[in-house]
Amino acid sequence: MKIMKEGLTFDDVLLIPKRSSVRSRREIDTSTQLSRNIKLNIPIVSANMDTVTESAMAIVMAQQGGIGIIHRFMPIVEQVNEVNKVKRAEMIRIDNPYCLKPETSLQEAKEFMKEKGISGLLITDNNNILQGILTSRDIKFTENENVLVKELMSKDLITAKPDISIEEAKNILKKNRIEKLPLVDEKGVVRGLITATDIIKAKILPKASKDSKGRLRVGAAIGVVGDYLERAEALYNAGADVLVLDIAHGHSDLAINAIKKIRKNLGDIELIAGNVATAEGAKDLIEAGSDGIKTGVGPGSICITRVVAGAGVPQLTAIMETSKVAKEFGVPVIADGGIRTSGDITKAIAAGAQTVMIGSLLAGTEESPGAAILRQGRRYKVVRGMASLGATLGREAKEKKGSFDEFDLGSVVPEGVEAMVPYRGSAVDVLNQLVGGFRSGVSYCGATSIQEMQEKAEFIKITSAGRKESTSHDVELI
Ligand code: IMP
Repeated sequence: MKIMKEGLTFDDVLLIPKRSSVRSRREIDTSTQLSRNIKLNIPIVSANMDTVTESAMAIVMAQQGGIGIIHRFMPIVEQVNEVNKVKRAEMIRIDNPYCLKPETSLQEAKEFMKEKGISGLLITDNNNILQGILTSRDIKFTENENVLVKELMSKDLITAKPDISIEEAKNILKKNRIEKLPLVDEKGVVRGLITATDIIKAKILPKASKDSKGRLRVGAAIGVVGDYLERAEALYNAGADVLVLDIAHGHSDLAINAIKKIRKNLGDIELIAGNVATAEGAKDLIEAGSDGIKTGVGPGSICITRVVAGAGVPQLTAIMETSKVAKEFGVPVIADGGIRTSGDITKAIAAGAQTVMIGSLLAGTEESPGAAILRQGRRYKVVRGMASLGATLGREAKEKKGSFDEFDLGSVVPEGVEAMVPYRGSAVDVLNQLVGGFRSGVSYCGATSIQEMQEKAEFIKITSAGRKESTSHDVELI
């Protein structure tokens, strides 16, 4: 009586091939909705995990047409700084460029540039009047780090008015062979900055996810207890395009109340919430005010929730159930966890999700936090569940500033593991493979867009013999 129904996951099904008119995979439109009001050009989101997404990953994700969600396991100021790095990474027009005073030492300026991830700084006086520019070129050959930036900065400046058009700015940059054009008002007060590298990148990456000011899009995760309201407000003010309220069991009063509070405090902010695995869960979060639903309880590669707690729903069924109700509200679903191949992405999206969230497949790339490790001649990177023992102890250590005196190790019940994944080089290559395979999947469904695929797709349930037949078999792999 209590067995409700059958649950299926990616390996239990295949998509039935349908007649296709597609001649080239390039014809397939991969654009999709992340949330009610945010569009992406590829249906991939990098996971808010501390071994997956900080600014470097978020920048490459947005450049490729997806988005990265900065994890929340750091102090608010650090998370805000990560959002700032993405927002300033590739801006055509920077409204509030970083400035330092002429009396700053070279050492301080270098540290500041490193912390903010930038290659040039405007130097201003106490009234914010432009005095000079300091670029990596100006400091390259100076060994004495105590020297003041006023001795090193370029004072011979070409500037423009704040309302200059991008076209005019491009001409000035080109004519004068400079990379940075400060925008100043009639009193010389800094009002903005345009940089040449940003303009070049915008040309090369036409599919990048950009906000209305031409800046790369980025999301940031928040929780439901402690400083979450303060964090949400700080991230919103820093320009995060979307907040992702993320807890393991999202179908809870805690999550619902937190969504309502954030809505009340921050009005029309774009807000995604999760994780859930049922229609009721999705409905409750949407009715509380969520613009997107994150689906997945237990499918993650580093997740042991289903073993430890005995709870969860196989991911394909969870996607189908949550997206059915979410669709009625016009809210997109993110299928979070368990993606191992591009084929899994096709199945997740054919089942009704608008995007997929990926953790360990991206954790092995150059852009994920942390360095690669060498083991028996091979390179690996670490991936860990945010509820793993290591991640939990790391948080405790930070909160208690390294002292574990009062910490009861036995009280931790991990629902995640720590692991290694092969080093895979740049995330750009991984994304190209995943999106290429996904495009192929869309065409097998006889469609040319995500919406058309969702209308046409039909699954066939397979047996273990079918599964065995579905990968390479009966050959010695080279
Ligand atoms: P993956 O792409 O299969 O590696 O799954 C990534 C997803 O696993 C994340 O986006 C989270 O939803 C989930 N996850 C992250 N850490 C944990 C954990 O410690 N326990 C359970 N699930 C986790």
